[in-house]
Amino acid sequence: MSKAIRITQNGGPEVLKLVDVEVPAPAADEVTVRHHAVGLNFIDIYFRSGLYKHPLPHGLGNEAAGVVEAVGKDVGHVKVGDRVAYGQSPIGAYAERHNAKALQVVKLPDFISFEQAAAMMLKGLTVQYLFRQTYRLQGDETILFHAAAGGVGLIACQWARALGVKLIGTVSSPEKAAIAREHGAWATIDYTRENIPERVRELTGGRKLPVVYDSVGKDTWEASLDCIEPRGLMVSFGNASGPVTGVNLGILAAKGSLYVTRPTLGAYAASQEKVQAAADELFGLVESGRIKVNIGQRYALADAAKAQEALAARKTTGATVFIVD
Ligand code: NDP
Repeated sequence: MSKAIRITQNGGPEVLKLVDVEVPAPAADEVTVRHHAVGLNFIDIYFRSGLYKHPLPHGLGNEAAGVVEAVGKDVGHVKVGDRVAYGQSPIGAYAERHNAKALQVVKLPDFISFEQAAAMMLKGLTVQYLFRQTYRLQGDETILFHAAAGGVGLIACQWARALGVKLIGTVSSPEKAAIAREHGAWATIDYTRENIPERVRELTGGRKLPVVYDSVGKDTWEASLDCIEPRGLMVSFGNASGPVTGVNLGILAAKGSLYVTRPTLGAYAASQEKVQAAADELFGLVESGRIKVNIGQRYALADAAKAQEALAARKTTGATVFIVD
């Protein structure tokens, strides 16, 4: 048995219930992980609210770290007792134990704690594919990255600095601006009171940008497009303010033959080799000190509703983890 968060209907944080669940023996391609820490991500809110669909009832969460308790018969790269983490898994990581897809599970180096791993597997692997695969940043570029003081955002700030890229980060308060800059943002824009395209032009001496990374969605979509140079790339990778819908493709022509992609980590983390290669890059940056994992909030699993409320209300900075003992 395992304590786990389950929902039987979509709705607000009140639908999250801590219950006892049976954890079956792992399937051939699965690993049972006894969690020590679990990551909170904005995607968990989309599944809770019903913006993203999954057959009910179901658990929540995709990211966790702990010790392998059992492995399926086809699993060769990890064994019982290994310290491991994963950032993409069948939904249900808000739990003491969970059966993760083996291809998503990586061994943890000694210098990474369970808490750090739970705070960065999903978020750090996301920044890896955004910066190294979706658009391969070389250094010397200036980019716009929304929600720069968030969980994904603070890793992005540090990764950009490590690459020599000038990251302009949007934030909603002076406190968040200071945190983003401490973590390597070259400049910040408070999008609750400043005009994003105007501020970008001021900061760049009138130039637009080759790429914009937008996880805010509905509220920033058009302003983001206005920051991109002709034939540049819009990476729309989230919906914190609501989804972008009903787009007239003509807007991409009007704003300069722009490209748009709507990527997901799942499509990039499609094999064990790809997950391991991306994790090695992330872990290397942590080992060298160029990425420090910033855990802004810690909760018990029983307080999942409070944790999600804080994330949705923009009250968090950096990552949030659930501590499981
Ligand atoms: P964050 O910690 O970044 O929290 C979301 C942030 O979005 C808030 O702190 C807030 O920052 C900003 N925001 C802007 N408008 C709103 C709004 N109306 N309501 C709530 N927040 C708002 O979350 P995560 O690090 O977990 O994820 C960041 C984003 O990246 C999410 O949109 C997530 O879905 C997306 N994502 C996408 C992935 C993919 O592969 N496609 C993978 C991982 C994450 P501020 O107060 O500064 O405005």
